[in-house]
Amino acid sequence: MADMRDHVWGCLVGGAVGDALGYPIEFMSEDEIDTRFGSKGIQTLEQAAELAGEPQAIFSDDTQMSLFTAAGLLYGVERHRVPEISDIWLAYREWYATQGNKQYLDDPAHPKLWLTSMDAMQHRRAPGTTCLLAIQGGVGGTIFEPVNNSKGCGGVMRAAPVGLMAYCLRKGTRPTVEQRYHWASAMAAESAALTHGHPMGWLPAAVLAQIIERACVPNEPLEQIVTRSVRDVAAQYESFPEADVLVDMVDSAIALSKESHATAEDDRAHIHELGEGWVGEEALCIAIYAALSYCNDVGKAIRCAVNHWGDSDSTGAICGNILGAYLGMDAIKASFNLLSLEHIDVILRVATDMVEVGQE
Ligand SMILES: [Mg+2]
Repeated sequence: MADMRDHVWGCLVGGAVGDALGYPIEFMSEDEIDTRFGSKGIQTLEQAAELAGEPQAIFSDDTQMSLFTAAGLLYGVERHRVPEISDIWLAYREWYATQGNKQYLDDPAHPKLWLTSMDAMQHRRAPGTTCLLAIQGGVGGTIFEPVNNSKGCGGVMRAAPVGLMAYCLRKGTRPTVEQRYHWASAMAAESAALTHGHPMGWLPAAVLAQIIERACVPNEPLEQIVTRSVRDVAAQYESFPEADVLVDMVDSAIALSKESHATAEDDRAHIHELGEGWVGEEALCIAIYAALSYCNDVGKAIRCAVNHWGDSDSTGAICGNILGAYLGMDAIKASFNLLSLEHIDVILRVATDMVEVGQE
């Protein structure tokens, strides 16, 4: 069981570390990053805290929404053993309430999720407009009835807990899904499609959830986990032509991860070939590139994933989710001073609740 905790904690904390390291440089150019931190870029949570003018490094909407994904899944387990998409929709509405919209709660005095009442969640940290508008609209989308045509990375950046829940359900004694891995990818796809209607808004979420579920049982190389996951999802959603495009993009990320990493400039050049990360497929591929480039060193991987001119907090968060799940909590601790990360108690409480699902 220590193993399970290691992977689940590692995934959620790793994601928060990547998010918190990238958040203060999300809108900085590479020249600005280099001028401030040197050519290797931002390295520590202490630097992130200082740049944000806070006592500890702060995480953004990526981590907030990931925690709400987890909270919705946990609520679903409580209510009907295997979570449903409506549980996640409820959680996203409660996240929306924390962004200054308490009137949207069914009962503002008594939100259904404990997370909603936490001080830690009552901050607006550059929430994505797509998410806000889709939730405000009151009716989430599905993959066949898209709510919009957005492929922003807001769908994939919050999907990791779906893979964790699939892993925990599989380990526990509760009735689980019939087809391994497909539950994770379907639930992640639909949960992303609640707010992001373009296939590249939700397909990367499906791939990430499968990667996370497999990475929690790290008995095969990470590259193989990635390759299998993206192909499995492409087969599951073969009616969408974007699925094959995503396979090609992930293959490019894998190929680039095998090229030279002699300097920080090499990594940036490779990342630029994959994009900037504002959209789902680019965020996933940049995170995969960084994770595979440094698959035994989560510190190097996360630093690689954030130090570019694109969507640093999301690429950092996804990379941290993947390698945190794969390498475990101790690897994160060895690379970053977690005393400098805000609200780690809340993250660990959510993570521990998930582990308990796997122990029942
Ligand atoms: Mg963010």
